[in-house]
Amino acid sequence: MERFVYADNAATTPVSESVRRAMLPFFEDGWGNPSSLHRKGREAKAAIDNARSRVAAAIGAEAREVYFTSCGSEADNWAIKGAAYAARRKNPEKNHIITTVIEHPAVLETCRALEKDGFTVTYLPVNSDGLVSVDVLKDAITPATVIAAIMFANNEIGTIQPIKALADTAHEKGILFFTDAVQAVGAIDINVKDLGVDMLSMSGHKMHAPKGIGALYIRRGVVIDRLINGGGQERGQRAGTENVAYAVALAQAIEDAVASLDDMKRVQAMRDRLIDGLSAIPRSYVNGSRESRLPGNVNIAFEFIEGESLLLLLDMAGIAASTGSACSSASLEPSHVLLSIGLPVEKAHGSLRLTVSHDNTDEDIDYILEQVPKAVARLREMSPLTEF
Ligand code: PLP
Repeated sequence: MERFVYADNAATTPVSESVRRAMLPFFEDGWGNPSSLHRKGREAKAAIDNARSRVAAAIGAEAREVYFTSCGSEADNWAIKGAAYAARRKNPEKNHIITTVIEHPAVLETCRALEKDGFTVTYLPVNSDGLVSVDVLKDAITPATVIAAIMFANNEIGTIQPIKALADTAHEKGILFFTDAVQAVGAIDINVKDLGVDMLSMSGHKMHAPKGIGALYIRRGVVIDRLINGGGQERGQRAGTENVAYAVALAQAIEDAVASLDDMKRVQAMRDRLIDGLSAIPRSYVNGSRESRLPGNVNIAFEFIEGESLLLLLDMAGIAASTGSACSSASLEPSHVLLSIGLPVEKAHGSLRLTVSHDNTDEDIDYILEQVPKAVARLREMSPLTEF
């Protein structure tokens, strides 16, 4: 059989067998509408209530603080727009939002949309590891600031932010703190109460649930505007007949992920073997922090290489990888994250992201460590820029 190594888990993950089994009954007998009062409805309502409790338990929240959404992007949009509009309606002077230059487009584009609607946005810089400074956040907060939206872990370079310290700083200055935790939930231990965040977003397809389900944690007492108007679902906060099967899938996925957090040590060891092995290639540079990094993330720049060509060669060898985020891989623009940590355009173009998960094995890592240096060498032989 042809060899296939999937090392693009930050883009998406396959639906696991346990998730598939958990949601199947809701495509068979469990098709009721949770708002219906008859037994079919009550069964569906019980399923979604149970799913909500399980998601909440996995992040240390109360069930009533978890709202299902259609994806991580919706949760990001809702948290930021919901907080911004609610605050400005009460006090028109509240029109400032803080975020960072390395956010996912789901946050960046939300902020740009708010700028078009009269809000001011500060995009905090990051250091060469991709870390946001607590002092820089503190200095950016003004009396007009509503919220700081700072991602938990970056999807391209895997840098994990000091979320608790950032949330504490936001609260000292009286503003809300939201974190896009789409890449972090399921990969690292998260307790929203210990962290003190006001809102946190997640997405099912990054942890072996299907694409098209997410959730937003909203701390009890935090009031934000609705994003989707309509019926009274999700306790009146998010309209739309609930996707019961996918909510159950998310609950199963997050529970499975938390139960296998111990195995992340093995994932981290595979990551470190990859980083050590690949950084032995001449003129290669590790992007992101070595210490504060997602357990499965490898991001490395090779000089004199086009990332897209490297991806094609690796694909031919049966390795699925990425050059930046999946969302921007269709464009030839260099990654905004890599430019923000100070990479020149050429190095940003020559970067490779490998993201490994529980499904990967040591043999996969051996294979990647055999194929990537070969592919890099081959491309450098053909490159007019190379001195190798
Ligand atoms: N935020 C981050 C950090 C992500 O990596 C992604 C997906 O790549 C999203 C948000 C968007 O999530 P979804 O694909 O569920 O809309």
